[in-house]
Amino acid sequence: DPQAPDAVLAGLDDEQREAASTLTGPLCILAGAGTGKTRAITHRIAYGVRAGVYDPHRLLAVTFTARAAAEMRSRLNALGAPGVQARTFHAAALRQLQYFWPMAIGGTMPEILDHKVRLLTEAARRLHISTDRAALRDLASEIEWAKVSTLTPDSYLELAAHRPEPGGVDHRTFAKLYQSYEDVKLDKHLIDFEDVLLLTVGMLEDDERVAAQVRQQYRHFVVDEYQDVSPLQQRLLDLWLGGREELCVVGDAAQTIYSFTGATPDHLLQFTRRHPQAKVVRLVRDYRSTPQVVQLANVLLADRTREQAKIRAQMQAQGEQPPAWPDPLRLISQREHGPAPSLTQHADDDAEAGWIAEQIVALRDSGVPLSEIAILYRTNGQSQAFEQALATAGISYQLRGSERFFSRREVREALAALRTSSLVEESGDGVPKTVRDILSSHGWRREAPEGTGAVRERWESMSALVGLADQLHAEREMLDETLTMRQFITELEERSAAQHAPTVEGVTLASLHSAKGLEWDAVFLAGLSEGLMPITFAKTQREIDEERRLLYVGITRARKHLYMSSAQSRHSGGRGRRSPSRFLRPLRRELGLEEPTRRIAPSSGTVNPNSRAKKRTATCSSCGTVLTTGTEVKRRRCEDCPARYDEELYERLRSWRSSHAKELDVPAFVV
Ligand code: ATP
Ligand code: MG
Repeated sequence: DPQAPDAVLAGLDDEQREAASTLTGPLCILAGAGTGKTRAITHRIAYGVRAGVYDPHRLLAVTFTARAAAEMRSRLNALGAPGVQARTFHAAALRQLQYFWPMAIGGTMPEILDHKVRLLTEAARRLHISTDRAALRDLASEIEWAKVSTLTPDSYLELAAHRPEPGGVDHRTFAKLYQSYEDVKLDKHLIDFEDVLLLTVGMLEDDERVAAQVRQQYRHFVVDEYQDVSPLQQRLLDLWLGGREELCVVGDAAQTIYSFTGATPDHLLQFTRRHPQAKVVRLVRDYRSTPQVVQLANVLLADRTREQAKIRAQMQAQGEQPPAWPDPLRLISQREHGPAPSLTQHADDDAEAGWIAEQIVALRDSGVPLSEIAILYRTNGQSQAFEQALATAGISYQLRGSERFFSRREVREALAALRTSSLVEESGDGVPKTVRDILSSHGWRREAPEGTGAVRERWESMSALVGLADQLHAEREMLDETLTMRQFITELEERSAAQHAPTVEGVTLASLHSAKGLEWDAVFLAGLSEGLMPITFAKTQREIDEERRLLYVGITRARKHLYMSSAQSRHSGGRGRRSPSRFLRPLRRELGLEEPTRRIAPSSGTVNPNSRAKKRTATCSSCGTVLTTGTEVKRRRCEDCPARYDEELYERLRSWRSSHAKELDVPAFVV
């Protein structure tokens, strides 16, 4: 009987079913990538709702990105359990803050500022400090770091000694700027992104009425990607629970990649210590990837274990206590064999990107949809070469995925224009043509624009609206009905409220950090060279380990086709030489490759063999690239050092923030 509650348990294996049918009490699912953790908890929620154990409005599921939240909501709908709240920590906190602000704090809630730098300019002006824009960005990212680490200006000073001086100012000045920034923010009645969690935690701690009401609202909690929970998020979760234990957490310590936001897998690994009654379920079967892909992930994990054993022995020999590293879980693939993963090396970024574009054309021609292909990279600054190569090859792509689609400026403008015109008259030309006409008057053209970046994104957004009009029109036609503009607008408004972005057909370009929890048929892991992977500033063993986990996350995003590549230099004719990532060594052995499979001559710039001998060589102080020219040796910094071209910390925080920020304009919290 498909209507029976336990029909939703049918598509699960024994361990998954055990987890999904454990509806009460503390529950912890510990398992590797692609083993169906997210699937198990989604089915658990559906089962509990259908069995009448959970009231869907009393359960809160917390996911890592809004995209994952939207996916969970739509799966729950399909499983016959609508109405469950699946949100990110930020989105859930924001709704509570909005709802309780008048009662707990009074007055209207401040707006959320999206331009820290602008506010910081004012803060610096008040202190008569003059800094340039690049420095301000550094300072802004340092403020973000301090706030996610719950450091006040004073407590920052106590800890700051070992941190580099941000934006060229000393720590004391920075602390003053940080305080001044907070003052300006208060004066202008604004709060920033980090304040949302801080204030919600404060409100729940200080106001018993609020805490009681929230606890009454939510009885059951589910947290996905629990290995990346930050101390602040854990505090929020504890406040929601108020000592109760109706909590299910899911995670994989080997996928901890957000330590820089203060996240730590300790909460996951010590779950049973805090909840002695907890049931622990382990999953080992990998349903996502082919045996070839799974094998590479296993090799990478084993390599880490070997390295850890070495470090442990060293530390013990020196009388130190080694850290308690968790045992890696070996994955067992359930899928049929697929193509061998590839590992290639290219002369420069452009050659690498061009090669990737060629492979994508071949994949597309063999029937792989573009929406099933992703290019993942370490830093957002790397996307430009891929954008260019894909645009040249005529392949559509999406840079930001469907994140915050309805909050994009061009979409809001387009919606306003469509709404206005539909008020004036029904044109019946049919909706697709009307939509094209209206958007054309706003600069939309049928053909993709030449440029990349913002220009391209704007075009993509508008094209997605055109595509949606076509799709809805065709659906109505099949029912012998005609889509009206009014219906189209209503549909757009409903989708906007539900954050249900139209699907954009195109290759996904994303950072490894934002690819968490997602999967594609074909995945390209680009730029796997020293300096980028591990990234230049990853120096300590902890940081290197996190970089390796990031690669593990990347590899395990692929269902079938996996391409790993690196470039020897960043620019064509670039002088520095980068070697392939150290993490590739065991993978190369596994793939039976002595050397990278492919070398391409530099696309420009030739080296005169006679002059080479005379040059002294040295290595770049930041990324280890071999330097060959006099000036470079003097500076000890290679020309295209990643430390110079990417303000990485800023980028990481920005992408972390933007992956959460998409739900910032949610409607008021409803109890
Ligand atoms: P990650 O650690 O990357 O978040 P995960 O453990 O959450 O991975 P899921 O995303 O839930 O894994 O599942 C991975 C893929 O395997 C999905 O496509 C899912 O539908 C599929 N899958 C999971 N369990 C099963 C199953 N029992 N039978 C068939 N397919 C399954
Ligand atoms: Mg998952």
